Amino acid sequence: MESKIWLSSPHMGGNEQSYVNNAFETNWIAPLGPHVNGFESDLQKYLNTDCHVAALSSGTAAIHLGLILLNVGQGDEVICQSKTFSASANPIVYQGATPIFVDSENDTWNLCPEQLEIAIKDRIAKGKKPKAIIAVHLYGMPYKVDDIHKIASAYDIPVLEDSAEALGSTYHSKKCGTFGAIAVLSFNGNKIITTSGGGALVTKDPKLKDKAVFLATQAREKAVEYLHAEIGFNYRMSNVLAGIGRGQMEVLDDRVSARRNNFEIYKSAFSTIDELTFIDEPEGYFSNRWLSCVLTPSEATRDGIRNALDKQNIETRPLWKPMHQQPVFKDVPRYLNGVSDNLFEKGLCLPSGSNLTENEINRVISAIKMYFRA
Ligand SMILES: *Cc1c(COP(=O)(O)O)cnc(C)c1O
Repeated sequence: MESKIWLSSPHMGGNEQSYVNNAFETNWIAPLGPHVNGFESDLQKYLNTDCHVAALSSGTAAIHLGLILLNVGQGDEVICQSKTFSASANPIVYQGATPIFVDSENDTWNLCPEQLEIAIKDRIAKGKKPKAIIAVHLYGMPYKVDDIHKIASAYDIPVLEDSAEALGSTYHSKKCGTFGAIAVLSFNGNKIITTSGGGALVTKDPKLKDKAVFLATQAREKAVEYLHAEIGFNYRMSNVLAGIGRGQMEVLDDRVSARRNNFEIYKSAFSTIDELTFIDEPEGYFSNRWLSCVLTPSEATRDGIRNALDKQNIETRPLWKPMHQQPVFKDVPRYLNGVSDNLFEKGLCLPSGSNLTENEINRVISAIKMYFRA
């Protein structure tokens, strides 16, 4: 059996280890320290706006705190893109609120502006204005930022921007992770850069950053004794892991180029196979191409390719199964147009790591060409 080709595996740049060693040498083995501050400041510089960043234990924790900062609580409703990973939606339920799932459009596979407005109007008519909108830049492709934010501000609903998959992507030259009232990044092991596990909350309001850090460190009031006036969480990033993050920031631009290059290689290799199509970047959109995704004509073809590649020890995965199809969310209100169901049926994520070798990517291409006898 040939060696396993993963969908998206961690890719260290080289300097991570020395940051980690420094954490050991200085005994900053704690969920605070110079690397935590350094990583936050690296991210702020990278995002290149007046952003404030709180480094946290995961992207999920960042979404949870983001919802708290947007005052989402018991009985509230929060609109969430249905086509996403469950971590976008779960924190809504942690807060005792109800997700309202909204379908995607075909240009970016993200939140559909028309369906969004239909949903907002209908929820208001039913008696409750949604407290927030969670929009996702899926697979690194920016959502329709102008359209979505225009609707959100017309109804005065804040957007929580789930940029977990989109660090390095831009929309009309502005970095993803800077559009929402709150934005969220993830550094999980499969993301474009990783701290093994980690996340960040991004905001333009320094008071919200301070509040996020306060809540993430058990809501300890300024007092010598441990004094608590609010319920807190243990969500801060470890200084050891932030050291990995600092090393990864040095190579982020390379990681974006490598992933974009994978996409171009697949696209040109399959240009003669009519059954396979890819999503292009609309004018002004720049995707980090976190995962290269291909659309096939049918579920049977998608599964055929997936099984053929699995036999050759190559990992692939259907596009995210929409949240409205998940058993755990079967009773949740939804506003659908068929787009995310269709994408789920026909779409497949191909191995996309920035560390894929030429030989590995050629193995993927040959296996797919063999499937089509092309
Ligand atoms: C990975 C991911 C998250 C969650 O991030 P974690 O750091 O794994 O908690 C949230 N939303 C999306 C879209 C993701 O892909």
